Amino acid sequence: MRSLKTTAIKLSYISSKRSYCHQFINPNFDPKATKSGGGNNTNDLLTNLGYIYQLPTAGLLHYLPLGLRTVKKIGDIIRKNLNNSIDANEFPVNEVSLSSISPTSLWVKTGRYPNDEVFTLNKNGDKNAKFLLVPTCEEEITAMMKPYLKSYKNLPQIVYQISRKYRYEKRPRGGILRGREFLMKDAYSFHVNERDALKCFDMMKSKYDLIFQAFKIPYVSAWADSGEIGGDRSMEYHYLHEIGEDKLMICDECGIASNIEKCQSTPVGKGQFKDPVEVTWCLNKEGDTLIGIYYPGTHELDPRRVVEAYGGEDLDLDTINMPNEKVLLKYQRENEDIMLASMVRLMDCRLHPRSNLPDFPLSKYSKFQFVTIDEVDLCFSKVGDICEHCGTGHLRMEKSIEVGHIFYLGDKYSKPLDLKYVSKDNAQEVVKMGCYGIGLSRVLGSIAELTKDDIGLRWPSTIAPYTVSFVTPPNIHDDTSLLREIEHLKNNNSTNTSDDWLFDLRKDISLGKKINTSHAAGIPICCIIGRKSWPYIELEIRGKRYSNTWEKAYEMEGNGSKFDWVSKGEKASTNSKNRTFEKHLVHKDDLNSVLAILLKDL
Ligand SMILES: [Zn+2]
Repeated sequence: MRSLKTTAIKLSYISSKRSYCHQFINPNFDPKATKSGGGNNTNDLLTNLGYIYQLPTAGLLHYLPLGLRTVKKIGDIIRKNLNNSIDANEFPVNEVSLSSISPTSLWVKTGRYPNDEVFTLNKNGDKNAKFLLVPTCEEEITAMMKPYLKSYKNLPQIVYQISRKYRYEKRPRGGILRGREFLMKDAYSFHVNERDALKCFDMMKSKYDLIFQAFKIPYVSAWADSGEIGGDRSMEYHYLHEIGEDKLMICDECGIASNIEKCQSTPVGKGQFKDPVEVTWCLNKEGDTLIGIYYPGTHELDPRRVVEAYGGEDLDLDTINMPNEKVLLKYQRENEDIMLASMVRLMDCRLHPRSNLPDFPLSKYSKFQFVTIDEVDLCFSKVGDICEHCGTGHLRMEKSIEVGHIFYLGDKYSKPLDLKYVSKDNAQEVVKMGCYGIGLSRVLGSIAELTKDDIGLRWPSTIAPYTVSFVTPPNIHDDTSLLREIEHLKNNNSTNTSDDWLFDLRKDISLGKKINTSHAAGIPICCIIGRKSWPYIELEIRGKRYSNTWEKAYEMEGNGSKFDWVSKGEKASTNSKNRTFEKHLVHKDDLNSVLAILLKDL
């Protein structure tokens, strides 16, 4: 009787201290379901495994413990790299946390309200919304920093936060990748001049490379503007994947990537295109000039290049998207004396000089009012075009998911919100700003999407919710001495990785299902503890190898003889027909050291 009582006390002690699997993973999760299509959709896989809970309202989700741990690790990597200085002359970085509610009056000043992409808050009986839920915080941060940036001596400053943001997506796709609520790191920098702000842009670019390298997944940084000094210098961070909504043009020679909307290239086949020629009619802002844009029907018109070619800001961009008939009607209605109204023809450089152009739609016009601008590039870059950066490589197109973006903002927000400082010469100057975002929920969703296979998720160890799981046969609870050993194993792991260990000691789940669940959840290493092999522990590697330094360590230690470690060396296979996992057998006393060596590569 007495010994039974002791056992009961021991068990409750263990359960109060342990991270038990059933608290974190859906107990009804069936690892086999991932094979039979249950894991095709990443959102469903994350839901079934207990990472997220999808609300019936599209685009909204709750984070469950596994999802929260993953997103926190992503946040920790971001914080660590933002807070740590690369060199001593770096700008100071501080973390803040702003309210999610912002007065609409601020947004009216910057011209970003009314805005049908924001959620607004109305007080009872109030027709006009006085507040909105922030999709991003340029307005709020600019207003907040005002009392602290009075003098040039207070500059530069960088502040950041990791918080929930809100955007009214009309058609939210899969909750985690494009939701109506999302987790974002947004940083803002404040400077005395453009030169200083661009130095900060470069510093943040270096920090972003360190952050994305720590996530271990190959990424692409793409220029999102023409690359000119000043202006709207910006760079985007993408993961290449076919489900992505963005399109990147990447040079096969120099590797420089840019967003298709901002891609600079030299068209191939100049002057060779014959049919079918398309025409789009638009107007200038005055409405007194009709502009015909002629381009190959195989290409897509790029409004930015059209404006550039037309050589003026007075082109009415709204009319480019209007049906041709409407534009022509508007032109005829607004110009009583059509013989005096001017007309401009823009001819894309790809067109053959003797291409068959569509019939001119007006019967009344004066040839003398006609101006033709030819040999201009009016279309989006296409696969095969020549790269503008190196001049020799050809462009290919890749679909991608945007996960980060850094901008030089200039005075876009500081000017309308009157953020000024007193300069050395005692003059009032407008503060120059930059902003820098990373979507944490996007990073989580993208990496899940990019790494999953027919077994389930496969996290890099740096962001895995747990780096190691420990699984036991269900009858472990009859073996109090082994339970005590497990307790000892955990308590003697003084390294800070012990928080990353998940113990699955469930009574009612078979060992096989526990192993499969750990693998499906994407935990990089699964340690199997059983009476038969004890004091040796079997390790199964689920994580993908991003490097191979462990083999060197294994050889240097005399093929594991310094440690009591035997590598079974089977290469991990994700083929469901032939599921084999790389295996290692390690003595319990060397477990910590061996795990540390193995995890470096995963
Ligand atoms: Zn190139």
